[in-house]
Amino acid sequence: RDTPVTGHKRVLLAAPRGYCAGVDRAVIAVEKALEHYGAPVYVRKQIVHNVHVVATLESQGAIFVDEVDEVPEGSHIVFSAHGVSPAVVKGAADRKLEAIDATCPLVTKVHREAVRFGNQGRHIILIGHAGHEEVEGTMGHALDRTTLVQNPGEVDDLVIDDPDNLVWLSQTTLSVDETMETVRRLRERFPSIQNPPSDDICYATQNRQVAIKKVATEADLVIVVGSANSSNSVRLVEVALEHGAKAAYRVDYTNEIRQEWLDGVETVGVTSGASVPEVLVKEVLDDLADAGYIDVAEVVTAEEDLMFSLPKELRKDSSGQI
Ligand code: SF4
Repeated sequence: RDTPVTGHKRVLLAAPRGYCAGVDRAVIAVEKALEHYGAPVYVRKQIVHNVHVVATLESQGAIFVDEVDEVPEGSHIVFSAHGVSPAVVKGAADRKLEAIDATCPLVTKVHREAVRFGNQGRHIILIGHAGHEEVEGTMGHALDRTTLVQNPGEVDDLVIDDPDNLVWLSQTTLSVDETMETVRRLRERFPSIQNPPSDDICYATQNRQVAIKKVATEADLVIVVGSANSSNSVRLVEVALEHGAKAAYRVDYTNEIRQEWLDGVETVGVTSGASVPEVLVKEVLDDLADAGYIDVAEVVTAEEDLMFSLPKELRKDSSGQI
């Protein structure tokens, strides 16, 4: 006689997940600045969009501010991984602040594209989310020449004076699929619009989305570890839902997982955003194990080994001095 199939509780752990090269560098930059200059070190905006990282650095003596005019003259200030506009750099210089620029090099690349196209007299359509710090920083590099579009639906409403002189750029942490749909609509309305010279959506965003897509097809529930203001983390929830997950939630900490989310769930997919330390994922896995999800299989869709050198202000010279 056949025995009935019983539910097998398991976890599919997406890889890559968690820290990207730009976040790793930015967090180390604040730690090194604290080590070298002593507390307090000021940081403009959250260094990366993760509440745990920010709280940990605060406990070590970092002070997070919204704008440079909150910082005492002559202090050290770190610019976050999301980048800043030239106006912020000038504001810091005017206050004689010692700036350490932790802007991710992949964001700086987009800034350079914005400057170059702006100088060529092109008009830039920036695909991104209003109010996100990266978008503010990128727009600030070609302020009068940039129009923001947030999603495919907004393309129809664009009012453009010079439709044959367009190029599009994007925020680094968007949904790849949604961005391609926005571009498709842009191309329909403005057939001569030029593509960026290379992908603006960064490798880490792309890799995490590919991994969660594979996990989501088999998952009853996907848990994304990441903060509410983390663009790439929020996108992972959306991508999981679009690719077969029956439910998907974002949590900062494991204690936010609700008991009822697990009702009737056999396969839980787990991933984390690019600003999330692995310890937070480990805590989720420990709690899932306590709930019977002991079988954990990693679903690996790419290997990552990219590393960035520290901001130049923190690199040691041959005598070991910064
Ligand atoms: Fe850089 Fe991408 Fe990481 Fe943002 S998510 S810090 S652009 S590597």
